[in-house]
Amino acid sequence: MKSVILKVANIIGETGVYRFLCPGRVPVFMLHRVTDGSDGIPGDMTAERLRGYLRYLSSRGYSVLTMDQLWQFLNKGTSIPSKSVMFTIDDGFSDHHDVAAQVFDEFGFPLNFFVITGLLDEQLWPWDDQIAYAVNRTRISVTDLQLPFGGKYSVNLADIGLRRTIREIRNALKIVNQEHVYQWLSAELYSKLEVDFPDTIPREYRPMSWDDARSLKERGHGVYPHTCTHRILSTLALEEKQHEINEARKRVEQELAQCPDVFAYPTGRPSDYDRADIEEVKRAGFKMAFNTVPDYIRAGCSQYELPRFSLPENTADFLQIVNRFEALKEKVPRQPNRSRSFLPTR
Ligand SMILES: [Zn+2]
Repeated sequence: MKSVILKVANIIGETGVYRFLCPGRVPVFMLHRVTDGSDGIPGDMTAERLRGYLRYLSSRGYSVLTMDQLWQFLNKGTSIPSKSVMFTIDDGFSDHHDVAAQVFDEFGFPLNFFVITGLLDEQLWPWDDQIAYAVNRTRISVTDLQLPFGGKYSVNLADIGLRRTIREIRNALKIVNQEHVYQWLSAELYSKLEVDFPDTIPREYRPMSWDDARSLKERGHGVYPHTCTHRILSTLALEEKQHEINEARKRVEQELAQCPDVFAYPTGRPSDYDRADIEEVKRAGFKMAFNTVPDYIRAGCSQYELPRFSLPENTADFLQIVNRFEALKEKVPRQPNRSRSFLPTR
């Protein structure tokens, strides 16, 4: 029933009525991994699905904004077409250059890359992916993990399964001081799960190279820092925060010979960064920063907490964001304990 309602709503959306009712909103989408089917890349976003979305935008006359166009809109009040959207992709994996960028190039659309500089420097791969790698490979079903700074997490794979275990360990680690999270992973998680910590970055988590990043920039895409190590900023001491923000900026500047002026907070929920992080991002010279709150950007919103929608894996959800049907939720009176979003909960 819900899917029928959405189909009808999306057909009505083609007329532009929701954009008329909810003007001045820009959806910014966030991609993570894009697979062309020939590799073990995690996630369900395929190059073909992405191509389908961009084909739709191209055929319906949508404008895909550059970062500068968004900044001009927010700062100078420069008008942008009512059918505007923007795309970002986080972390800097090889598929971002090899697959995602190729699809965007087919349509001449810009894509904005937020890169973990330590990943491109091949010094590390993200802590959250290291959890998935270990849990997916372990033969141990039951064990107790001693969490950093006390507390424990009881692994029981037979009962709660791989996906939930990965999510719960990630969530447990998001709220502790992450200064030594990488050491904890190899010393505690890999050890207890009896998984060998790989000597080199596993194939599915390989980064793009800095040469790839330079090529993206030359092709009109944006490349911006996403910290050095992807640790949760709100858990870190001031000195660590400063290093993550300033050093990442410096690395991108050194490699791309261009001062990057936009930032994205790791994992990006409002609890994953704090006022001190926002101040540090401003002090470092960034003029905009993105979180991962699913909402539209509109004139007058904070430029250091710009929201983004995860790029949906099904077309109906994608269309309801693109045609601004999702924006109508603001006009629906809120009922207690009831989500206003028409999107499925994730
Ligand atoms: Zn990230």
